Amino acid sequence: MAYQLLTTHQFDVTIFTPQSADEVRTGRIRSTQVHFSSTIARERLYRMPTWPNAQELTSVHVSVGGETFFAGSLDKPAYSIDQRLYFSECMADLQRQGVHFVYAKVSSEQLSGMVESFDLVVDCTGRSGPVAPFPLDSSMPKIATPLRKCSVGYFLGVENAKPVGILAHILPGEGELFEIPALTEVGPVTILFVEAVPGGQLDVFHRAHHAQDFCSIMLDITESFFPEIRNRLTREQFSLCDDHAYLRVAVRSEVHIPYCEVNGRFVVGCGDSVVLNDPITGQGDNTASYLTEQLFCALLDDASREWDETTFQSYWEKSKPYVNHVVSWSHAMLRPLPEHILGMIMEGRTNQAVADRIANWFRTPSSAYNDFFYKDEIHENGGHEQ
Ligand SMILES: Cc1cc2nc3c(=O)[nH]c(=O)nc-3n(C[C@H](O)[C@H](O)[C@H](O)COP(=O)(O)OP(=O)(O)OC[C@H]3O[C@@H](n4cnc5c(N)ncnc54)[C@H](O)[C@@H]3O)c2cc1C
Repeated sequence: MAYQLLTTHQFDVTIFTPQSADEVRTGRIRSTQVHFSSTIARERLYRMPTWPNAQELTSVHVSVGGETFFAGSLDKPAYSIDQRLYFSECMADLQRQGVHFVYAKVSSEQLSGMVESFDLVVDCTGRSGPVAPFPLDSSMPKIATPLRKCSVGYFLGVENAKPVGILAHILPGEGELFEIPALTEVGPVTILFVEAVPGGQLDVFHRAHHAQDFCSIMLDITESFFPEIRNRLTREQFSLCDDHAYLRVAVRSEVHIPYCEVNGRFVVGCGDSVVLNDPITGQGDNTASYLTEQLFCALLDDASREWDETTFQSYWEKSKPYVNHVVSWSHAMLRPLPEHILGMIMEGRTNQAVADRIANWFRTPSSAYNDFFYKDEIHENGGHEQ
């Protein structure tokens, strides 16, 4: 959002955040952060830092129950840059461009004062938010209790599968393991991301009390359930890339109407603080990027007059169909897959066009939504969304 506002040369931007760029850079990992092509296009459009050393992810491999099914090609490549590196670079770059940083955690009490001092306050406080009292959007699906426990580590010592891409290893009834080549400050790593069904055989990371435990548990899991990964792993080199390179989290799923009045002024929301989802489909960053653009366009459309409720209504009305696609698809991926989707995955083994179509669900979630919820149209509608 800050980058978008800067492109117009019309706004002074202040960012309130609890951590300095250096604290972010040396802190704990936050995500697996795959950025698909629309997000990468926005990063270029709004002149965000570029990542020439990022490994291009050109495919999505799918295996089920330990058997490799297919590698579908992404129409346009994706990448994953450690958010510690990405955010700290962006913060330093924004500072150079004149953005003012205040290193503080904003409370709801402070918010009432902040609305007096700024033309607009955007609440993008992530999954620990929102700080503003945005109401839940009751028309959107919601999952109150997380259906997965997420455990993520950034590892050295894993050889990439070819073609280089995202690997989705599905273990029916137990969960998924996603494998993602990524760029960190220390160079390339392989992210291993377990989405465990609570109480199941993959739900074992609560036993990890420090980095070494986490690493041993991941090694055990690959040996017991994912031998294909085990075969590409060098045991002597297999380690986390640093002591903060692991994360355990469970994410609720809820959507808020992303604007409300605080002290007589509107506050607006963007990203996880208003659209929160389990990361099974890797869409959180991409949706946050989409929302910032929708908000930016709504603000510019009304730039000649004072922003009011209609400005923020327009932002939400335009964003809602896409958000519904992402949320509905993500929820469907957390539950036993529908028969016709299992059929598609089976067909992907022998039909490359279907394999490619499945890969591009992640790039264009609306195509996934159509395949999941409008099954009769699957064979008539062969092309991918752009
Ligand atoms: C395990 C995992 C894997 C994921 N994988 C992917 C993926 O592959 N692709 C994808 O697109 N998404 C993925 N996501 C989701 C993605 O990381 C988030 O959707 C994205 O980071 C949301 O961005 P955000 O800016 O809204 O929030 P955040 O990135 O969480 O940033 C919020 C910021 O607000 C600050 N903050 C919080 N509270 C306050 C406060 N009170 N005052 C001031 N500042 C505050 C925080 O310190 C932080 O800097 C994943 C998430 C998880 C947990």
